[in-house]
Parts: sequence; structure tokens; C-alpha cells
Amino acid sequence: MSIMEMSHRGKEFLSVIQQAEADLRDLLKIPENYEVLFLQGGATTQFSAIPLNLCTSDDTADFIVTGSWGDKAFKEAQKYCKGKVVWTGKAEKYSSIPNQSELNVTVGAKYLHICANETIHGVEYKDYPSTGNDTLLVADMSSNFCSKPVDVSKFGLIYAGAQKNIGPAGVTIVIVRKDLIGKAQPSTPIMMDYKIHSENRSLYNTPPCFAIYMCGLVFGDLLSQGGLEAIERKNVEKAELLYDAIDASEGFYKCPVEKNVRSLMNVPFTMATPEMEAQFIKEASAQGMVQLKGHRSVGGIRASIYNAMPRAGVERLVAHMKAFQARHI
Ligand code: PMP
Repeated sequence: MSIMEMSHRGKEFLSVIQQAEADLRDLLKIPENYEVLFLQGGATTQFSAIPLNLCTSDDTADFIVTGSWGDKAFKEAQKYCKGKVVWTGKAEKYSSIPNQSELNVTVGAKYLHICANETIHGVEYKDYPSTGNDTLLVADMSSNFCSKPVDVSKFGLIYAGAQKNIGPAGVTIVIVRKDLIGKAQPSTPIMMDYKIHSENRSLYNTPPCFAIYMCGLVFGDLLSQGGLEAIERKNVEKAELLYDAIDASEGFYKCPVEKNVRSLMNVPFTMATPEMEAQFIKEASAQGMVQLKGHRSVGGIRASIYNAMPRAGVERLVAHMKAFQARHI
């Protein structure tokens, strides 16, 4: 019998989800006072679930907007609480992350929301902002989850759609401090109420069993590779290969992101003209390197080099970059 046929309440699937949770706890060293929830609806559903669970409609939630995903999270939260943008990188086309001194945080804000890695713009936090005593730090880690160690205890809540680093779309991980559960706004849909999912060990309704099973396999694999310290070392090496190639190209390739916040996962770069970029992408595709086109909202090129991209894949892209440049100067 396959995992897709089984009852999610049978002991066979229970052992799958419990092992997945245990391995994720091991990987991220998740403290005991945090709940791990396996939910559905993607990270997008959490844009609404988070304010519904953490705020009353009169509470303020602060947002640092370092790219499109942070902006979407802010816009959705405004429906359920008083959302406030305390910093936005929009004017510089989302190429940086603010220093602590640039933030004008709201005293008494319920939480400060960040997007740990902006997938489209390729900006990634290296240090997290500190918040006032009563303000929780909440992070969307959808596109860098399990790519490096994280001190979970700094956060009130971390959330991530699975589909970049840990498994198929369909499961969304929420790691939330236990004392924050159980205070949802009365109108919160049952499927968004963390209390319901926590009380039912993520089995209130049929969970995405196959996706959870796959995530469990990936967690086991990440542990056997040496855990997240080892994964981070590999990711740093891969990203450095690409950024070094960009920086050594004497402006033929340009990365718009400030050096100290360049993403290890999504490496955006541009060339002199859109036509040249299109040619680069076409030639890469002919060599089996696909999905290099930048997001439609920003253009350019974007190499997404998630955990599963081997170093050899990055080396091949770098070889293409060098050969392409040699032919065009
Ligand atoms: N946040 C980030 C950082 C993302 O990269 C994405 C998806 N690319 C989302 C949120 C939305 O996730 P989902 O499609 O799982 O709703």
C-alpha cells in the first residue's frame, strides 16, 4: 500500500509525520516551547493566518518590505490588523536590507514581519533585526528554509512553503512559540486556527500526506549530509562561484543586490540589453539549463540554486557565462 492510499490516522502514517517532525526539530534545533505544524494553503495562506492568530483587529503589526513577498504579506495583514510598513526598499528596486538604525518600529507592535529571503529580488537577511521586548519577530522563510542554521528562539513564528528546499508544494511549515497559540480572532476560519492544528497534531483534516512523507525523506537526507551547518557550507560555496563570476566579468554581468545581503538561494543578474539576456537564456536552455529567466516583474536572469542544485550545475552555468561573454566582447 502506498503512502497516498493510507488513512492519515493509521499508525503507519503517524510514524511518518512524527519522524518528519522529529528530524526537522533535530535539524533546526527547535526548542521544546515551539510547536511545529504541517499545514496547507502555501505561505500565502499564512499572510492572513498570522495576523488572525497573533493580533486583535486593533493591534499593530510592523513590516519591513525588502521585496514583493514582504509587500504581499503586508497587504494581506492589513485586512486583519493595523499593518504598518516601517521600511521599504521599493525606491531602490529592492536591492538592500535596512540596518537596525534605519527602522522606525512601532512601540507596542505585536510583531515585526520580515521576509528572510526575497525570492524574486535575491536579498537575504544575514542578521535579523531586534525588536522591542513585547514585539515578536515573524519571518517568512519560504525560499531559504533549511538552507542554513537558524536560531529559532529569536522568533515568535517562522513559516515556509515546502516547495523550494524541502519537498513538493502542498505542505507549509509553521514553527510557532506555544504561548502564542489559542488567541485567534473569533472570525478566524477553522483551517487557519493554530490551536485546532496544534491540538490535533496537524491531523485535524486530511493533511497532504505525500508531501509530508517527501519532506520527511528530505529532512533525513539533510541530517545524513551533516545537518544545516554542512548544508550552509555547500550553499555558500555554490553561491560564491556565481557571484565571483558576476563580479569578475567587469560589468558584463551585473547583480543589483548589495553585496552584504546577496542571497545564497536566488542569484539575479542583468546584462546590457534584454535581447542579450534572451540570447543567453536560449543558449543555456539548449545546453539543458532551464528556468533562468528572471521573474516577470523584474526581468533579467535569475539562477535559483536551492539545496538540491548540485555544485556541478552551478559550475556549468558559470562555464556558460564565461563562454557567452567571450563570444560577445
Ligand atoms: N513567500 C516567499 C518568500 C515565496 O518565495 C513564495 C513563493 N514563491 C511565497 C511566499 C508564496 O508561497 P506559496 O506559493 O506557497 O503560497
